[in-house]
Amino acid sequence: MVRDSPRTGPTGRRPLRARVLHPPLRLDRTRGPQRGRPLRPHGPRPSRARRLRPRAHPRGARLDPGRGALGEGGLRMGTGSRAPAPPHPLPGSRVFLLTARVRDLGSVDALVLGGGPAGLGAAWTLAAGGARVLVVEREETVGGLCRTHAREGYRFDMGGHRFITADRDLLDRVVRLCGDDLLLAERSSEVALLGRRFRYPLEPLDLARKLPPGLALRALLSYLRGRLRPGPPVESFEDWASRRFGRVLYELFIGPYTEKLWGVSPAALSPEWAGQRISVPDLWAAARALFARGDAPARTHAKTFLYPRLGMGQLFERIAAAARSAGALLLTGSVPRAFERRGTRLNAALLETPEGPARVRTDTVLSTVPLPCLLDLALGPEAARELEGAFPFRPVRFLNIALDRPEALPTTWCYVGEGRLRAGRLQEPKKRSPHMAPPGRSSLMIELPHAPGDDIDRAGDADLLERARGELGALGVDLGDDVRFAFSVRAPEAYPVHLRGTPAARARALAALGRLENLRTFGRQGAFRFIFSDAALRMGIAAGEGFLAGRLPTNQDLARVQSAQRLTEVASVVGPTVLAGRERG
Ligand SMILES: Cc1cc2nc3c(=O)[nH]c(=O)nc-3n(C[C@H](O)[C@H](O)[C@H](O)COP(=O)(O)OP(=O)(O)OC[C@H]3O[C@@H](n4cnc5c(N)ncnc54)[C@H](O)[C@@H]3O)c2cc1C
Repeated sequence: MVRDSPRTGPTGRRPLRARVLHPPLRLDRTRGPQRGRPLRPHGPRPSRARRLRPRAHPRGARLDPGRGALGEGGLRMGTGSRAPAPPHPLPGSRVFLLTARVRDLGSVDALVLGGGPAGLGAAWTLAAGGARVLVVEREETVGGLCRTHAREGYRFDMGGHRFITADRDLLDRVVRLCGDDLLLAERSSEVALLGRRFRYPLEPLDLARKLPPGLALRALLSYLRGRLRPGPPVESFEDWASRRFGRVLYELFIGPYTEKLWGVSPAALSPEWAGQRISVPDLWAAARALFARGDAPARTHAKTFLYPRLGMGQLFERIAAAARSAGALLLTGSVPRAFERRGTRLNAALLETPEGPARVRTDTVLSTVPLPCLLDLALGPEAARELEGAFPFRPVRFLNIALDRPEALPTTWCYVGEGRLRAGRLQEPKKRSPHMAPPGRSSLMIELPHAPGDDIDRAGDADLLERARGELGALGVDLGDDVRFAFSVRAPEAYPVHLRGTPAARARALAALGRLENLRTFGRQGAFRFIFSDAALRMGIAAGEGFLAGRLPTNQDLARVQSAQRLTEVASVVGPTVLAGRERG
């Protein structure tokens, strides 16, 4: 059976635009605010923890155990009290254009926008430190891109995830939170190309053995040429990759795969992205990694990883539960519609919630929602338009196929190197945890990167499954009569596309937002960086700790947090005691 997915994501909502009356702050390359009072310097402030008021639920909010979102880490707001809209715009402040009466949710110390790893990391830290926190999440469940969708005993991540970190403190927290539900999984991955399967990460000897001999020789010569002959400065991902892996390998696999994934020519992509995504710097490093014994491996080479028994989403459900039990409120199915601003401070936000518009006063806004959305909300559509096009996202549709057979693939995941096929990656969730499918059965997940409004975006799930059968057939995977059901999940902001102009545009956007002294933006979407979940969590924790210490890190400091590229293998970090007796996923 095939079920159709909604066009607009699980909530069925379309992106909303803020409606504001006040003229927006303009983006400017010069320093300092353009109007309003001068900025308060970012110097040390009295410890926030001492100034915190006793924790309380926002007025009008109630926990509703009868509603679906609660069981999965969310909270619905009750009807609450209603405050009339202010009748006139206040000088020097942003006001809402109100069409209905607005529920007053009271005031919080921190309003966290987005309930993915970054937002949850912040909420968890803040609530544990005694701050009153409200998390506003667009979807019905929290977890962001790390959610796991469950149906009839089958569970699917949004793209298979691995939890890897070199941060011992974070690892400790994760291990404590998940306890026996954390499995140690072993990776196995490959690239399907030219009708063959190559090991991934690419291994020079494997390439030499499996590539046609003439091609292997040409690949080697072009690699040596790239290394020995210094060319012009590296300006694009194409320059970066062909210099490091050789033109032949670039044209064979890296170029076509990159273009399929990102939807733009690798010549238009910033080389900055390569450093964030690919932790193996070149083919020589790949060769050394094969024989390295004592060295810390690059992230790409990590052989083991931590994985929650019930999918990556389980980790973030635990974090959400920890945040909630420390007093944080999670409001799902809701979005911010506008901010109230006085000078350089945001004082309140107007939210759209399932129960209608609501207003919450806040001391600080910690945003992890997509950067273009925040620019629009905080600085106004005019400022957002100035940077329009600088921060595009590449959507991915995940086709989840429940099977009636015990195994789907020989490896955990497989990159589809052929540029002509639309699938980016195939995954078998059960290879990460045996609990991802019912006993004796397995499943397959296909990642389909696409452009907004293209044929993949428009296709129904039944159509998508038929196309998938064709592509899988070309890759030697025959689903036969074993499909029990299939459904797709959409991630409209799966990949922040790092164009060549992105670093400069990001610097301008972060500086402009930094003029609002009590607003911070971070996370994969908020900092517009290609980061993994551990870095997103660490950004959130850093923002939360900074708030509690009375000294919020700057947007730029938060954006610099990223996953360590050199890793100590997970097993040695966690330590033999913690992992003793733990089953392997
Ligand atoms: C295919 C794929 C595979 C990946 N594999 C791995 C992996 O193996 N290991 C790993 O560590 N990481 C992996 N990642 C990356 C990981 O998913 C992200 O780093 C992490 O989810 C980022 O967390 P975040 O909170 O910054 O952003 P997100 O997870 O995107 O969370 C942002 C949240 O904000 C919400 N939101 C958006 N707009 C609004 C709005 N207007 N109002 C309210 N809420 C809003 C979203 O619904 C979402 O919940 C992968 C990502 C993808 C796409």
